[in-house]
Amino acid sequence: MSNNIPSSCSSPLFAGNKEIKFAEKTVLEPETGQLLLRVRANALCGSERPQFFDGASVTPGHEATGTVVAAGPGTRTPVGTTGAVFLMDFCGQCRSCRLGFTNQCLQKRGDMGFNRDGGYGQYELIHENIFFPVPDEFSSTEATLLLDIMGTGGHAIERCQLMRPDIESLLVVGAGPIGLGVLAMAKIILGRQLKVLITDVMPYRLELAERLGGLPINIAQTPLSAGIQSHELVRVDMAVDTTGKQAARQDAVDSLAQRGSLICVGHGEGIALKISPDIIAPERSIVGSEYFRYDELPANLRRLRQHRAYLNQIITHRLGVDEIQRAFEAFFFGGETGKVIIEQ
Ligand SMILES: [Zn+2]
Ligand SMILES: [Zn+2]
Repeated sequence: MSNNIPSSCSSPLFAGNKEIKFAEKTVLEPETGQLLLRVRANALCGSERPQFFDGASVTPGHEATGTVVAAGPGTRTPVGTTGAVFLMDFCGQCRSCRLGFTNQCLQKRGDMGFNRDGGYGQYELIHENIFFPVPDEFSSTEATLLLDIMGTGGHAIERCQLMRPDIESLLVVGAGPIGLGVLAMAKIILGRQLKVLITDVMPYRLELAERLGGLPINIAQTPLSAGIQSHELVRVDMAVDTTGKQAARQDAVDSLAQRGSLICVGHGEGIALKISPDIIAPERSIVGSEYFRYDELPANLRRLRQHRAYLNQIITHRLGVDEIQRAFEAFFFGGETGKVIIEQ
């Protein structure tokens, strides 16, 4: 490989018990169809909780942007191109992939940052098909918004639109980064006039949600139904759960109007339903929304250009990789963060 690329580099090692150490890791050469990226930024995600608490065998990080520094045989992306990395290493050939459902690939080669080395290391080796080039007008840090914030958030809104065309109100359960992403993408895709109610227990996050145009409900102080009424509604057309908590999902179903849907984005606990009154009579539905499709990225890049300052408000902390321990502690224990980015 080129002289500038080291044969090994120091990478964060998630040792378990909320401890992140550093260990030397070999920098692999890209094989056929692969790109080697010099990572520039990677956003922290709530789904990394088990890796932070219990440790990880690979280098975590699934919201990465980086610059191509070496390209394997058969690739077309020029060295020097900067872009974002799609989490799921989809095959491109299965029934799902052929139809564009790349988030439902039947023969996934891996999940970056979960069973493949991800974006907290200096270098990340990926298959070219999961690389999405981003023009230089965007910083690597703001380009991470294309992933879980705009991608996952926007996909949840698409799932809402699939269920009904006349959405006048939306309840977002949880104002963590995914909840903020759902709120922002609801405003961008469905229009600023849409009433988006958003719950949390942390005043910091609710204030951030309010700056993004959300109608906050602090469920530590108010029951959900009273919170909805305080915003002059009785029920909501749609709800998106980002918490994964059974009690929150239960409350969200109870708050749905006729023809309403609960879109579940947060993995976690279950839900108990009385099928006749909860589902059949009001014709409600419960729908899953998993990450997003690779082919949603171009539209989201256009939206990022149009709503750049608005979306950048979601990024509240930027730290160097040497501060990764402090970044994770602030993200998981402080409750006073939006999106936290590791830059390198
Ligand atoms: Zn994530
Ligand atoms: Zn596939």
